[in-house]
Amino acid sequence: MDFEFSAEHNQLRETVRRHAEEEMRPYVSEADDAERFPKKLFARWGELGLIGARYPELDGGVGMDKISDCIIREELGRVSQAFCAAFSAQSHLGIWPIWHAGTEEQRLRFFAPAVKGQKISCFGLSEPDGGSNIRAMKTRAEKVDGGYKISGSKLYITNSPIADFMILAARTAPDLKPTAISLFIVELPNTAVKISHLKKEGLKGSETGLLYIEDLFVPDDCLLGHSEGTYPVILASLTENRVGVSASVLGVAKGAYKEALDFSRTRIVAGKPILEYQAVAHRLADMATDIEAAHWMVYRGAWQVDKGGIDHETAAKIKLFVSEAAFRVTERAIRVLGGAGIMREFSVGRHHRDAMVYLFGEGTSDIQRNLISRAMKERDMLP
Ligand SMILES: Cc1cc2nc3c(=O)[nH]c(=O)nc-3n(C[C@H](O)[C@H](O)[C@H](O)COP(=O)(O)OP(=O)(O)OC[C@H]3O[C@@H](n4cnc5c(N)ncnc54)[C@H](O)[C@@H]3O)c2cc1C
Repeated sequence: MDFEFSAEHNQLRETVRRHAEEEMRPYVSEADDAERFPKKLFARWGELGLIGARYPELDGGVGMDKISDCIIREELGRVSQAFCAAFSAQSHLGIWPIWHAGTEEQRLRFFAPAVKGQKISCFGLSEPDGGSNIRAMKTRAEKVDGGYKISGSKLYITNSPIADFMILAARTAPDLKPTAISLFIVELPNTAVKISHLKKEGLKGSETGLLYIEDLFVPDDCLLGHSEGTYPVILASLTENRVGVSASVLGVAKGAYKEALDFSRTRIVAGKPILEYQAVAHRLADMATDIEAAHWMVYRGAWQVDKGGIDHETAAKIKLFVSEAAFRVTERAIRVLGGAGIMREFSVGRHHRDAMVYLFGEGTSDIQRNLISRAMKERDMLP
């Protein structure tokens, strides 16, 4: 066993940390207030090779590994989980399915420019009646001459108000079998897709949309992989992204911890820094313990992806533990700061609001528990 990061990984972390501190942090507060994502970051992330980091060079990526992708997301998340949500939709949710199952032409047309940050992508799966229960999907794609006609709605779609294209999941058959769901690539904006910008209490610096789709014509060449029934691609994509998302949530926890620690050293109460009060030191000890467990779960998961793939159960355990740990850590960070913890001058309040979203984004904690316990039942509930 080797628990060390390589010299390249450490170098990457340093580069991304510098970028996040110097080129992202100045926009974080403004984006949170305006509820708008600074779009120019996509081009910068493309230039720095961050979007395509984990994809092979042969396919237009940078040829690093999943550990590198997690380092990138952790460092971006440390400064802004909202910006990292936009990054996740751009670097994974909106393009991984094309890289994994798209045709050569689809990769060239959509994947390649997205990796460079020249086109913005999003992923439309969730619906008003089908968030946790994907099988309740009502969006229908009907085969017509030369393509498909799609009608339905999609809810909470990250990047959709600013996207150039979307991976859209729609039902191509009425039955409840997973294979009745297919993926399409839809160019945006489109008059048949009405997108409204949703106001949120967390991840405010990312843009989230509600979509009404009416009689949208999608040509045959935009059916992903030119084949119907690509639902398993969604499952594989979400499973891997549970590791990536957990890395960004780990970053939020580390960002909040750092702010709480710095504050506890400088805030003097009754003649001494509050860090010298055992209650505060214990709080920091609990936070550090959660962070350490989360850190190793994330990077072991990334290592598993690099070794050939991660199973649903392990990915669900990582997402469950890390998102709940980040929620605890950010809440404790606010307590360390006291009243200052809810002032806009500090980041811990924003970090807590953002961490809250990942208790349900990318599958709620209950859904992760369902996945874990279902897998455990197959071996008599043994861990
Ligand atoms: C900011 C944000 C960004 C998002 N971005 C995207 C995106 O880019 N693309 C996309 O497709 N989706 C996106 N989502 C949607 C996200 O994946 C869903 O919110 C999530 O899957 C939960 O669905 P829901 O909100 O409809 O909750 P519901 O499914 O209505 O769940 C409500 C509650 O019931 C519980 N529950 C439901 N079913 C079960 C069950 N079987 N067992 C136990 N408990 C259950 C849940 O755990 C939860 O507590 C985003 C969401 C948010 C908030």
